[in-house]
Amino acid sequence: MFDEVVSFIKSLFPNKSFIPLHEPCFAGNEKKYVTDCIDSTFVSSVGAYVTKLEEMICEYTGSKYAVAAMNGTAALHMALILAGVERDDEVLTQALTFVATANAIAYAGASPIFVDSAKDNMGLCPEALKKFLKENTEIKNGVCVNKTTGRKIKACVPMHVFGHPVKLDEIIEVCREYNILVIEDAAESLGSFYKGKHTGTIAPIGILSFNGNKIATCGGGGMLLIQDEQLAKKAKHLTTTAKRPHPYEFFHDQIGYNYRLPNLNAALACAQIEQLPKFVESKRNLANEYERFFEGKPIQFVKEDKDSSSNYWLNAVLLKDRKERDAFLKTSNDNGVMTRPIWILMNKLPAFENCQKTNLTNAEFYEDRVVNIPSSVRL
Ligand SMILES: *Cc1c(COP(=O)(O)O)cnc(C)c1O
Repeated sequence: MFDEVVSFIKSLFPNKSFIPLHEPCFAGNEKKYVTDCIDSTFVSSVGAYVTKLEEMICEYTGSKYAVAAMNGTAALHMALILAGVERDDEVLTQALTFVATANAIAYAGASPIFVDSAKDNMGLCPEALKKFLKENTEIKNGVCVNKTTGRKIKACVPMHVFGHPVKLDEIIEVCREYNILVIEDAAESLGSFYKGKHTGTIAPIGILSFNGNKIATCGGGGMLLIQDEQLAKKAKHLTTTAKRPHPYEFFHDQIGYNYRLPNLNAALACAQIEQLPKFVESKRNLANEYERFFEGKPIQFVKEDKDSSSNYWLNAVLLKDRKERDAFLKTSNDNGVMTRPIWILMNKLPAFENCQKTNLTNAEFYEDRVVNIPSSVRL
C-alpha cells in the first residue's frame, strides 16, 4: 500500500529524484522587483514596496488595514500587545499548533492555556473552549479571570491548521461572551476563506507569514491584518520603534519594536502575491488529485470543512495509528518522497509542559496519525 502511495506522489512531481514537502515557486516578477529595489538603494526599513505589499494584501484579503512585519512570529507578538496582553496574563490557544503560536504568547510575558482540537477539524474546538471557560473562569469587572490561577485571560489565538479554517463563528461567539479578544493565526492560510471571508480578517486582528515554506514567501516576512483604524496606527507605530514623526528629531514615545519588514523582502513578496491566485488554484488541483487517489483506501485524505475553502497549503493524510504512521514516514522518506509528522503537542515541550490544558483527546488522536505529504505549487 505505502509503495503505491510513493509511486503516485512521484507521478505527480515527475522528473525529480527527491520530492520535497514544499518548495517555493518564483515564476513571476521576483527578480525584476528585487533588482529595482537594489537599484533604488532603499533596501531596508523605508521604501515603496512595503506600502505596495500592504495595499496588495488588503485588496486580496479584504482586510481594512495591513501592517507588514519582519516575520509571522513578530506579527503574532505584536498582535498580542495590541490585544492588551501583559505580563502574567493568560492566552488560550490550541495544543496542536506550530511552536511560534505558543512562543509569541511567552514573548508577551503571558502563559498559554492549551485547548483541544475539534473532532472533525484539526483547529481549536469551540465546545472544549466553552467548557473550559464555563468551569474555570469568572468575569470580574468585565475581565475574564481564571479561578485556578487568579490571572486574566485576555485573548484566544486559534490557528488554521495547514490552511484549513477553524470553526471561527463558534469560537468568536464563545469569546465574546467572556470578553476575550480573538486573534487569528492565519500564518498557514493565506488564500483560505471561511464562509466567504478571508481567514485572518474575521477576528479583529489576524496575522500572516511569508516564511520560506509558506504558500507565498519573501524569505522571511509577516503581516498584521487589522480591522480597526486606531489599532492599525498603533501597530505601525510600535513596529517602527515608536518614533514620533519629525523631520530629524529622535523622539520615541514608548518602548517600540524593530519589527518592520525590509523593503527588499517586500519587493519579493509583491511579486509572489501577484501570483497567489495561480498558486491557490494549483494547490487545490493537487489536493483534488490526492483526494481522488485516497478515496476508498485505508489512508484517509484530510479535506476542507463544508463552510470553508482551503488553500491546501500542506496536504495531510490520517494513518490508522502511530505504528502505521511511523511505517509510512519511513517508507516515503527512504524512497525520496519527503513526508513529515504533524507537530508534537505544545504541552509536551519543555517550555510549556506546566501550562494549564483541557482534555486533549482529539489533539492526541491527530498527533498520532497525521502526516504531511508533498504539496509544492505545480505550474
Ligand atoms: C509559520 C508559522 C508562524 C510563524 O511564522 P514565521 O514567519 O516563520 O515567524 C506562526 N504560526 C504558525 C502556525 C506557522 O505555521
